[in-house]
Amino acid sequence: MTAGPPIADLHYDDAPNVGSVPGPESRRLLERQREIDSSAVAYPEDIPVAFEEGKGATVRDADGNTYIDMFAGIGVLNVGHANPYVLEAVHEQADKLVHTVDFPSEARLDLIEKLNEIAPAGLRDNNRVVFGGPTGSDAVEASIKLAKYNTGGDGLIAFRGSYHGATSGAMSITSNKGFKDDYTPLLPETVHAPYPFPFRQDKEPDAAVEHALEEVKEIVEDPYGGLANPAGIFVEPIQGEGGVVTPPEGFLSGLRDIADDNDLPLMFDEIQSGMGRTGEWWACDWEGVTPDIMTSAKALGGTGFPLSATMYREELDTWGSGDHAGTYRGHVVAMRAGTRTIEYVQEHDLLAHARDLGDHIRARLRAIGESNPRLGEVRGKGLFIGAEFVDGEGAPDGDAVDAIQQYCFEHGVLVWTAGRHGNVLRLLPPLVLTRDLADTALDVIADAVEHATADTQSA
Ligand code: PLP
Repeated sequence: MTAGPPIADLHYDDAPNVGSVPGPESRRLLERQREIDSSAVAYPEDIPVAFEEGKGATVRDADGNTYIDMFAGIGVLNVGHANPYVLEAVHEQADKLVHTVDFPSEARLDLIEKLNEIAPAGLRDNNRVVFGGPTGSDAVEASIKLAKYNTGGDGLIAFRGSYHGATSGAMSITSNKGFKDDYTPLLPETVHAPYPFPFRQDKEPDAAVEHALEEVKEIVEDPYGGLANPAGIFVEPIQGEGGVVTPPEGFLSGLRDIADDNDLPLMFDEIQSGMGRTGEWWACDWEGVTPDIMTSAKALGGTGFPLSATMYREELDTWGSGDHAGTYRGHVVAMRAGTRTIEYVQEHDLLAHARDLGDHIRARLRAIGESNPRLGEVRGKGLFIGAEFVDGEGAPDGDAVDAIQQYCFEHGVLVWTAGRHGNVLRLLPPLVLTRDLADTALDVIADAVEHATADTQSA
């Protein structure tokens, strides 16, 4: 039995198809939002639009304009908008039972088993899952608590360029200073080591890895390293918000060694990079390194339901009943959606598809970069893709990426940004994106790059 329709059947046929955007209905809703919603609303600042419905890797706005969606709600909609195989179970479950705190249900236990099946090799059959709250930041908090509980330590080693969420603990290990400077002090005893970033650090890949690992080793092992009582090392296997910074091979295994040598839990934040995004279930699978504790959220809830999970080695399951709590310890509908999502990816071989299509997209972006030095580097794995833009002097150029995003929006392709200076074009399309849709989107992106960098191209 094949689970649901093939990926070619999931999308609106007419994408992209846009008139002048934002259209009148989007403008009306944006204006209404400005009057009554929080001033913290952010996304419409970059793409001023109101969405109405979505199918697969395509989405329609309130005026009927249809877009190719190359960011998927920031890496959430891995099996696309309104995936029928997922929605079938969602409707069925929603009509029966939605909320059960952490009482057992088939939905809950099926998802735990499914997560065990796809867990990184060293966690498989040695895996516990805690569902402590609905969003990614909750899974990060749970990981920090679990590490502290098991080690008795309080110090955390995180990395420059990291993003882990908006709650206090998650903000502490996040490195973006502007994001947290109004809320300090956060968790004390948190230090940020350099993350290997050969392009920005102007280093060979091996040297960038060596430099990062030496710093971590010193923090942990040098008697004058500064952190008295470490509880663990927390890292994104690929940094998303930081600019799709993809560490060279050797970094994660080096961290594994340092963690083992010092009896520290190694924690991977797979909230953005996991659930098949990179063409493996987890980005750490690329290097075959297993963490002790791992976070998941975003795509875990299927077609956009908020669900997060912290997976961890059984030996760390030392909590007593109720030691980690929360009203929403797993939304039953989201759990069914999560299991169906994993099944859909498996049945349609979407990991291989993500690897192939990702390679194709990166090759096309690199071809643009060959004739345009403003596109400095193309990075990523699978369908986790970043293209870093620089100005004529090689400095980060966020304005170019803003202009690319705007041009793409006006031409029916939704793309997102990332990076310390907003100078990375970030593509996180649904894994169900077809090659045809990808090529159409890339034609638009190529025009957008030319348009946005025309100043120095013609100079
Ligand atoms: N960790 C990573 C790597 C993320 O990319 C994000 C969100 O973008 C988070 C944590 C926080 O997740 P949430 O926004 O669901 O709280």
